[in-house]
Amino acid sequence: MAKNNPSDILTGDWNPVVGCQRYSAGCRSCWWIDGIMPWQQRLGNLPASLRENESLTMENVTVVKPDGPKRKGGPQIVNRLTLESLKGKSGIVGVVQHGDLFWDKVTDEVIHRVLDIVDQASQIQARMKDGTKYVLWSKRAERMARIMNERYPDGVPRAIACGVSIENQKLAHERLPHLTSIKGWKFVMIEPMLGPVNLAPWIDQVDWVVAGSETGADARELDLDWLRAVRDISIANQVPFFLKQVGTSHKNSNRQLDGRSWDEFPEGFRK
Ligand code: SF4
Repeated sequence: MAKNNPSDILTGDWNPVVGCQRYSAGCRSCWWIDGIMPWQQRLGNLPASLRENESLTMENVTVVKPDGPKRKGGPQIVNRLTLESLKGKSGIVGVVQHGDLFWDKVTDEVIHRVLDIVDQASQIQARMKDGTKYVLWSKRAERMARIMNERYPDGVPRAIACGVSIENQKLAHERLPHLTSIKGWKFVMIEPMLGPVNLAPWIDQVDWVVAGSETGADARELDLDWLRAVRDISIANQVPFFLKQVGTSHKNSNRQLDGRSWDEFPEGFRK
């Protein structure tokens, strides 16, 4: 995540828990499992033994200090599940980008520890009138909704935004009813977009739509008319629309649709 890359919606991320397992069609080329995890293992920043379908969480506490001295015989594991490690981050901060916080191997206890720290950090930011937003997004929409609704029965604090990733219409029907049951900031992430999506049943219940193509050497094709449809329904319903990319490159992304880029954020979100 980089604030200087126009296709990223985040200014930074915080990864007190890492790990995930492929879950649906959009996971075929997972940037974490196929890219970041092996790269960090090569650097010695993650245990070489870590595999897809294993998480590093509480009990084998948490991740590795990337800039710290390497311990003899293995990486130096440090606990990032601390307020200290989140406090300095501001803007639009992705919470657990190196995996999925709501993956079933992450216990409820760990998720609540993460949210406790986010709540503490947002109270500090609120006192500073800083306006930082903490962004959670997941494909495990049902679990996300259950936990967020139980934890925040009166509504999710305004410093937190909940997003659900979908790839096609079938997954929209499976996941978006859970997303829209959450009281608070909500957004739909359609990336990688693998088929047409009609957002009509949910568009008046979400605050932001983000979409983009798959990236990578074997990226699946994106039909620009699929993007036009989600852009147009967003505009018609005055929901901000952000287009991440239409091409296969993430670093040098083509972000043009019909002659311009689409970079809308909800009010109060500042990159
Ligand atoms: S849910 Fe996200 S992090 Fe997990 S495997 Fe799929 S793409 Fe990767």
